[in-house]
Amino acid sequence: RKSSVGLVGLGQMGYGMAKNLALKSSGPVYVFDVNQAAIQRITQEFPNVKTVRDISELGDKTATVITMLPEHTHVESVYEQLLPTVDKDSVLVDSSTIDASVSRNVAQKVAQKGGVAFDAPVSGGTLGANAGTLTFMVGSPSEAAFDQVRPVLQYMGKNVIYCGVNGSGQVAKLCNNMLLGISMIGVSEAMHLGTKLGMDPQLLASILNNSTGRCWSSDTYNPYPGVIPTAPASKGYQGGFSNKLMAKDLRLAMKAAESCDTKPELGTMASTVYQKLCTSKDFESLDFSSVFKWISNKH
Ligand code: NAD
Repeated sequence: RKSSVGLVGLGQMGYGMAKNLALKSSGPVYVFDVNQAAIQRITQEFPNVKTVRDISELGDKTATVITMLPEHTHVESVYEQLLPTVDKDSVLVDSSTIDASVSRNVAQKVAQKGGVAFDAPVSGGTLGANAGTLTFMVGSPSEAAFDQVRPVLQYMGKNVIYCGVNGSGQVAKLCNNMLLGISMIGVSEAMHLGTKLGMDPQLLASILNNSTGRCWSSDTYNPYPGVIPTAPASKGYQGGFSNKLMAKDLRLAMKAAESCDTKPELGTMASTVYQKLCTSKDFESLDFSSVFKWISNKH
């Protein structure tokens, strides 16, 4: 049990993470998802990846379990099913982006059963998940406990950063994603304005990327179709990080801001933009760089 790793949630991110675990960890990898097609894809590709009947079988077979689920409700439900299997060998790592208070809550329940739990949300997107180059922001019961989780996260990421007590990984992640939402809207507005004024998009992007406006949203994940062939913008905004999930993260960031009596002006605007975008069924599941298309459609 100790040498095997479990992963629950084989979506946009979980698939790439499972792939890196399959390639690099020494023992078997057990996976579970409510979507059978997602299980089939990874188990057919890698002979050392196996599936289980349900979450409790996964907990029985593996001491280390990673979860990569959309929202806190999914995390709470999976943890409810895992808890009966938790013992002193259990290492539970939640890499979903959720409310820090929920991370603290589930960590406490795991600790009561003798196990150790970490919040370890990630940055790097689907490209990083596939390449095994994610950044993990880790909230841990203690700095000493952090050593228990670092090796397994290094299979999937190039930076594994200790952020402090449980919940602090989520705080770091929400700050990052608030900035990401703002920067994606900013790059989209700049690309839209420049091309409307007659600039070639490729040339404009390369100028931005060699100037002070450069950021990840402009140089790695540019929202203008065709500028970066591997980015979701060049694939009809399919795959990647959905508008729905970005709207969720901005909502969480605004809730966190309220809890400490602050109101980020641009964060609030970015949150409003992504909530509005999600009222359209056409946009909800597209990658969050489709805010460029949304802006272009309007003007
Ligand atoms: P996703 O919706 O593509 O994948 C989630 C997977 O979880 C799906 O396969 C779904 O079937 C599965 N699932 C849902 N409920 C389940 C349950 N009860 N038991 C088992 N499986 C269940 O989401 P994603 O894009 O992979 O994102 C996952 C998390 O990572 C989110 O919290 C997101 O905010 C965060 N994140 C995403 C990205 C990105 O670029 N997509 C980047 C960083 C962080």
